[in-house]
Amino acid sequence: MLPASRERTPNSNAPHAAKCRNWEKDGPRRDDAPHCGLPELLPRGAYPAVMSYGLRDVDGVRVELCDECGFDGREPRDLLTAFAGTYASLEQLAGHPDGGRRPETDTWSGREYVEHCVDGADQTVAMCNRAAGRPAAERLVSLSDAAAATAALVRQMSEAQWDAATDGWPFEVSVRVATLHLLHDLEHHVWDVRRGYAKLALADGIEVATSSR
Ligand SMILES: [Zn+2]
Repeated sequence: MLPASRERTPNSNAPHAAKCRNWEKDGPRRDDAPHCGLPELLPRGAYPAVMSYGLRDVDGVRVELCDECGFDGREPRDLLTAFAGTYASLEQLAGHPDGGRRPETDTWSGREYVEHCVDGADQTVAMCNRAAGRPAAERLVSLSDAAAATAALVRQMSEAQWDAATDGWPFEVSVRVATLHLLHDLEHHVWDVRRGYAKLALADGIEVATSSR
């Protein structure tokens, strides 16, 4: 089943650009950055009519939820395993034969999404290290860098460091929530990249049958 929002193109959702600016505020911003697939974290009243992603306080716990990819911050998960699996998926997707092709003019190619994921990991790891009072890591420039730095962060955080407040948003986001936000970002983009490859092959292949809604 494809999601109801499948016809929405990235440019039709202005908050995407703001989300990317948010991640990249400490570094250079790509001119064609508004296509990350996730809207910005905004106060509730500012959400667009069709909201697919956000933070909620549920039973006293701040959680991230997405009704597009199904991410639910409440799910029990082993973070090390989850990040390792997601980075491995991105690495595999980056090597796809269509990795350099955009499925649509204004939608990133698989490799562009992967670059964005590395940027997001770089910004999040830096933010979490800052919040936890840890030394800054080297700038992350590859998926393997990002995977190693994220694993180090997850392995080495104390309970107090997990609860430390980050400085990335105008509302309180702990290191724990920021780390889950990174996991969601990466998992969501695995889904975006897979969707892009499927779209390309649907357009390229000799049509046998098509079902649309
Ligand atoms: Zn999502």
